[in-house]
Amino acid sequence: MSVLVVGSVALDSIRTPNGSVEEALGGSASYFSLAARHFTDVQMVAVVGEDFPAQGRELLAASGVDMGGLSTQPGRTFRWAGEYGADLAYPKTLATELNVFAGFHPALDAKQRRAETVFLANIDPELQMEVLDQVEKPRFVACDTMNYWITSKREALLQVMRRVDICLLNDEEARLLSGEAQVPRAARVLLDQGVKRLLVKKGEHGALLFSPEERYFCPAYPHENLVDPTGAGDAFAGGFVGYLDRAGDAPTLPIREAMICGTALASLCVEAFSPRRLAEVSRDEIAERIEAIRRVAHMPEVRLG
Ligand code: AMP
Repeated sequence: MSVLVVGSVALDSIRTPNGSVEEALGGSASYFSLAARHFTDVQMVAVVGEDFPAQGRELLAASGVDMGGLSTQPGRTFRWAGEYGADLAYPKTLATELNVFAGFHPALDAKQRRAETVFLANIDPELQMEVLDQVEKPRFVACDTMNYWITSKREALLQVMRRVDICLLNDEEARLLSGEAQVPRAARVLLDQGVKRLLVKKGEHGALLFSPEERYFCPAYPHENLVDPTGAGDAFAGGFVGYLDRAGDAPTLPIREAMICGTALASLCVEAFSPRRLAEVSRDEIAERIEAIRRVAHMPEVRLG
């Protein structure tokens, strides 16, 4: 049991109405790994520059993430700066600096090539494809992305999306990629283009699963203490993919349970800046949050007449 993840490891500068941080540990692979490792072992493939602080590496390693695939290259670490408005919904990107990611071409070792579960976190789709091409026989592959790549590498991204078992997008990304304003229509367009399953995250309004066989909705935890939404999507992916990996080759994919786990980890992530909460949260707190979400979601039977 283990998940291989390729994605960004970043230094994030974030402003929200609740405060701000400068050059804090961030990146899609960091948030994903710190959420997924509550369910399974995680092998990370990513790159940082020589300026990456030792505390970032220590926090990930202390959480049990296998950092064998985190390479250090001459140059500066990937940086992202973003700002949230009063609704803490979608960030405005202020700056994206690819830095060492611009020339990164990982070569997986034998253990990484044998990974059964793979998560292609938000990063250049060409890099996602390079990693996927090296994995020998993955049982389950999921991918994520963001507007930056939808706009700049659309065709490469669609190729990745057609190869994987499920794509995770937020509603804005689904609209941008499909050209459709309504989410169910956007999902239809993407499924018609060869995407196998689509999971659309709608922030505080929950997440929707679309596949040719089923549609399912999981509400979000109704949070009163949202501090910083950065990484919520990656933490969702960590809980979701981590749970599915742990389930092994169960006869039916426990996709609904996995959505509840993803929702729980996302709601814990947003309680603090950077992935700090994900690093500290206990198994009991995760179990409690899962139960709270299940209670919110309960729908009674309705009898007419
Ligand atoms: P999320 O809020 O889950 O969508 O993810 C936020 C994380 O994505 C931040 O920690 C950023 O460092 C990272 N990020 C932002 N822009 C990009 C990009 N273009 N490629 C890869 N990672 C990014």
